[in-house]
Amino acid sequence: MIPYGRQSLDQADIDAVVEVLQSDWLTQGPTIERFEQAMAARCQADFAVAVCNATAALHIACLAADLGPGDRLWTSPNTFLASANCGRYCGAEVDFVDIDPLTWNLDAFALEAKLEQAERDGTLPKVLVAVAFSGQSCDMRRIAELAERYHFTVIEDASHAVGASYAGRPVGCGEFAAMTVFSFHPVKIITSAEGGMILTNRPALAERLRRLRSHGMTRDPEHMTEPSHGAWYYQQVELGFNYRITDLQAALGLSQLGKLDEFVARRRELAARYDRLLAYLPVTLPSPQEEAESAWHLYVIRLQTERISLSHRQVFEGLRAAGIGVNLHYIPVHLQPYYQGLGFAEGDFPEAERYYAQAISLPLYPLLSDEQQDHVVEQLRRLTER
Ligand SMILES: *Cc1c(COP(=O)(O)O)cnc(C)c1O
Repeated sequence: MIPYGRQSLDQADIDAVVEVLQSDWLTQGPTIERFEQAMAARCQADFAVAVCNATAALHIACLAADLGPGDRLWTSPNTFLASANCGRYCGAEVDFVDIDPLTWNLDAFALEAKLEQAERDGTLPKVLVAVAFSGQSCDMRRIAELAERYHFTVIEDASHAVGASYAGRPVGCGEFAAMTVFSFHPVKIITSAEGGMILTNRPALAERLRRLRSHGMTRDPEHMTEPSHGAWYYQQVELGFNYRITDLQAALGLSQLGKLDEFVARRRELAARYDRLLAYLPVTLPSPQEEAESAWHLYVIRLQTERISLSHRQVFEGLRAAGIGVNLHYIPVHLQPYYQGLGFAEGDFPEAERYYAQAISLPLYPLLSDEQQDHVVEQLRRLTER
């Protein structure tokens, strides 16, 4: 089976992990800081805080934005569950903004209309999680303007977008978002097995994130309520977690970061090849946005179902039967039973639902060969023929 995504590891990655295994620090050691500093430099951000996965990163990013009970978090329905669940972890209400029918990202115009209504109703959000779907940022310029006007915090969920850029600068640089979250799960652009990171330019947020990552503890006398009792002393000043990444994972992530450009270049090449090979099939291809350079985590197509005799499900299952591990990103989050239990229903976000009825993620990862890709295209051609 050709998977839809997979990691690319080499001997240097393995050696980097083994080196840490033989060192004094398996966790809470110096490799974590090296990984953070390398990522901050790469993204032109002032601070980077590494954690055990992007879900934890989103959780503490929301807490650092002071999201709590009585507050609202908005996000896209076309995302992984974690982009919405982080709001629920904080006791906040979650709501969604429908997607743009071309980019499949949260629609900034729909956002503007919803904000105008929310202002009248007194239901403005405190946090917006702007998901860079498939590796392409949302209309961040407009979103940042709206954030200024309506006073909400923008957290960019860039789990798909490590190595992407927007408006000529790396995603994560903090020009359009207070915090940017990355995931290093093996299907993403670079991996640390499990791992996540938050980038920010605001020192107070970085400080708070570090504290929340480790039990809400501080060893900094400036943040204590009374003078130190001695060299052993620490204080827990708020409720935090153990969301730490290990040095083993950080070593893998750091080694992978050295190959980020190469990985993204191959993903772009494969995406451009799909664009060419699929141009005459009854499918709608991804639409690049002017200011956004995607990292190409996903290559998603939409079946033009009215031009195809098989159903969406039949084409999907036909591809699986032909040994192609296609996937579907995403089932609209508001249709999940948990969110239906909170009052959402079918029909609430029609663009995301129409998208769900047509979308298929084709295999895309650096080690996918041209021959494998030709096989994917050939099978798709066979299944979409009238
Ligand atoms: C993968 C992913 C996450 C969660 O990442 P983990 O590191 O697995 O916790 C969050 N948001 C999006 C959009 C993702 O794709």
